[in-house]
Amino acid sequence: MLLTGVTLCKRRGRESLAVTQGYVNALDNSSKVEPPQIRTRNSLSPVTVAPRGNFSQTANMADTPASSTRLRLMRRRIPEISPITSSSIALFRLGEVCNHHCPMCSNSGRPEGHLIDTSDLLRRINWLHEQGLRRVVVTGGEPTIHPGFWQVAEHLARADFAWDINSNGTRFGEPGLAARAADLGLLRAIISLHSHNPEQSCLVSGINLNQHLAIPLGIDALLAAGVQVMINLVITRITIGTLSSFVDFCYASWGSRAVLKVVFPSTAGKGGAWTGIQLRYREVVADLLAAQQRAETLELDLSFENVPPCVVGDSRLRNVDRSGFGETHYLEDLEGKQLFSIKHIESCFNAYPETCRNCISFSNCQGVAESYLRSYGAEEFVPLRE
Ligand code: SF4
Repeated sequence: MLLTGVTLCKRRGRESLAVTQGYVNALDNSSKVEPPQIRTRNSLSPVTVAPRGNFSQTANMADTPASSTRLRLMRRRIPEISPITSSSIALFRLGEVCNHHCPMCSNSGRPEGHLIDTSDLLRRINWLHEQGLRRVVVTGGEPTIHPGFWQVAEHLARADFAWDINSNGTRFGEPGLAARAADLGLLRAIISLHSHNPEQSCLVSGINLNQHLAIPLGIDALLAAGVQVMINLVITRITIGTLSSFVDFCYASWGSRAVLKVVFPSTAGKGGAWTGIQLRYREVVADLLAAQQRAETLELDLSFENVPPCVVGDSRLRNVDRSGFGETHYLEDLEGKQLFSIKHIESCFNAYPETCRNCISFSNCQGVAESYLRSYGAEEFVPLRE
């Protein structure tokens, strides 16, 4: 899953930071429960959290469907604003327009965010430059189908930006397109390929066979152009039991030239209600372990997202969060005039059961989606020991 939209909006008579449609829903839910019972670990002293940046989400877990006992949570407290350094990378959205129709889409679905004007995108690049940024991750929707995509890429190059892209990859197989992007500063691409099985891929991505077949061709072209590629698979009920063979497929196709990431689905976006992603960790543990073992055998670089190591009982599991691809900042979507710390945003939507204090992975763990804990409780998250 790729980090979805952030916008400043007016809610309940005050300005608040809403992150995706699903996050808005979470905020709505929060208004129905008591004040936060969250405690953060900044200095190991319990703190009642009122997350900065007008995030109004709470983590009061009283009387969740999964448990009649009160579940106390902790949340990391991370400043809303983080300094911009030479290694900072901002997530830069062109809009939510897309040529795939994944039922689990994590975008917000807001009409005003569908297609951001090219002139405003160019202004945003100038503004980011003034703030000291020299690298962005271009995201969508599908950035390559935005009518201003090449103007954006050329403007980035003129402003001496390096850039990465989140993409479904289907257009990069067109003659010369990947090489042109690389010439304009494209360094890395996260390409969504949600199944190597054509039938399953078409179902999960809402595409036809030709569109599916275009994805591997795009990956081929990107690698040939010298662009680093990470292949991104979001687990769904349709593809449970196939992760190990997915690893085999990727290795057979690209060897170790492409790295892999497997994502436990988030229900925060507009597709959050799709039953195909209403998953429990315990349903996919065997699949995750099989993929990890297969990748180790093949010496293939595989990481996970939204998978706390405890769910597979292995502290070595490489679980990255949404900032794991290097993004440090998020350019707010609709106005394009504010930068937020991505770690701050992530920290506002993840939480830790209190028992996590005793886990050897606590310092490196990004926690669990609060919405998951709210729905299912915390019994799956057993602290890891030495
Ligand atoms: S027990 Fe808590 S800290 Fe440890 S891996 Fe699980 S969620 Fe993370």
